[in-house]
Amino acid sequence: MKLIQLNDWNFSWINGEKVQLDDTSEVINPATGETIGLVPNGGKELTQRAIEAASQALPSWSKLTAGQRGTYLLDWADRVLADKEALAQLLSLEQGKPLEEARGEIEGVAVYIRWYAEEGKRAYGEIIPASRPGQRLMVLREAIGVVGLITPANFPAAILAMKVAPALAAGCSFVLKPAEQTPMIAIALISHLMDTNLPAGVANLVTGNPEVIGSTLSADSRVRKIAFTGSTEVGKILMRQAADNVKRLTLELGGNAPVIVFPDADLDKAVDGIMGNKFENCGQVCNGINLIYVHETIHHELVEKLAERIKLLKVASGTEPGSQIGPMIDPSYLDKVETLVNDAVAKGAKVLVGGNRIAREGYQNGYFYAPTLLDEVHAEMELTRREIFGPIAPVLTFTDEEDVVKRCNNTPYGLAGYVYTKDAARMFRMIDGLEVGNLAINGTSLANPQTPFGGVKESGIGRVGGHQGLEEYLELKYVSLTLE
Ligand code: NAP
Repeated sequence: MKLIQLNDWNFSWINGEKVQLDDTSEVINPATGETIGLVPNGGKELTQRAIEAASQALPSWSKLTAGQRGTYLLDWADRVLADKEALAQLLSLEQGKPLEEARGEIEGVAVYIRWYAEEGKRAYGEIIPASRPGQRLMVLREAIGVVGLITPANFPAAILAMKVAPALAAGCSFVLKPAEQTPMIAIALISHLMDTNLPAGVANLVTGNPEVIGSTLSADSRVRKIAFTGSTEVGKILMRQAADNVKRLTLELGGNAPVIVFPDADLDKAVDGIMGNKFENCGQVCNGINLIYVHETIHHELVEKLAERIKLLKVASGTEPGSQIGPMIDPSYLDKVETLVNDAVAKGAKVLVGGNRIAREGYQNGYFYAPTLLDEVHAEMELTRREIFGPIAPVLTFTDEEDVVKRCNNTPYGLAGYVYTKDAARMFRMIDGLEVGNLAINGTSLANPQTPFGGVKESGIGRVGGHQGLEEYLELKYVSLTLE
């Protein structure tokens, strides 16, 4: 692997140029606690320069045909794939996820970009039957304008592509702010975008103080929309700020996803699904399973199968061959997971596997937590109410279908849900009953470029993916044209 030098990614992109600052922030390798990079610690002035550049670039970019814009996107996807291995190494090093997952995420980046390069061509309008003779009623779709894009640390490459690709395809220019833990992969990806000779100012990237950059984007009326993925807490701050100039918002926020395993389920399939979802990215997945509800008649069998599989997971630095569980991204996430497990244990949960931090040899300062299976979990435990966002699998039992649906819905969140059953009538009752934006039945994979992913209740507003994800960056213009 090519060694990364501290200053390799020490620049922002403003108006087509790399901008360096004397004031920098450190990027930490979560497996070792070591500083692996420096990035500009930008604030108000840099953000305002980025907004100005995006505003200047908007008119000519939005007037290009969707096909012309798509050409830049396709070129970007090719460049990302040509550099896949180096990008995956950088992502794994900076974020902590196993290299295999990082490779998959980079491939996913190209898939989303290519899909929106084509979908941009289908921003169709409408002709509506008129009320008067000689009249034409039309609905056009136009780029919403300059957009502010704020991304989280858990899928810092994929979520960047899920925002940048539809924004560019729709004809928007943007200012992007990546998470402080994972700015380098964002700078690397935007550098590939700039290599396509994208017109100056269409794409701008600012790293630094989140409150200052966020409030500067929110306060500026030239920024017509904020697309944010992150915690519900920060989403609410942005929503309040957006009210001042009635800015549009897409909010992809936190979750508290249940999986319900019914007695007629294919148990091995359920175990595969739970393992694949729950422990991906060290449990730091917005639609990750938070709570496992299992019918009491199959409880022991499911728990035994899960325990067997969880014990085999290899915990190691993401870049170490064979790693399946890397470190957590941030020490604050590690503290939160430890607090939630301790609270559950104090209230009677049984630890069947894990339940502790790990100080691995050579990685004593890393943020590792053991993959954990907790049994006898009940509603008084804090982890049933909060998004765990870590490698913890809590098991609860149920006997009654209606009751378990009520328990699953008893949360302010509504991002995702999972159900295992072979009964078709029950599948429909689950589709109707569960208050979630995304539901998977007999499987746990949800995100695709062609499907609308998003939450209900406090899990968000708007959708990522699908034609709906493009519409988030388009504004409707209704025209009543009288011909005579
Ligand atoms: P986070 O702390 O909310 O941060 C997300 C982004 O917001 C980061 O870029 C962060 O910058 C920035 N930020 C923080 N405070 C801000 C402020 N006052 N104004 C503007 N921006 C601000 O979330 P995270 O810990 O990175 O990500 C985990 C959360 O994201 C989880 O709740 C997860 O469920 C959610 N998520 C949801 C989805 C979805 O599709 N629904 C997908 C992925 C993740 P700094 O990093 O510099 O603080």
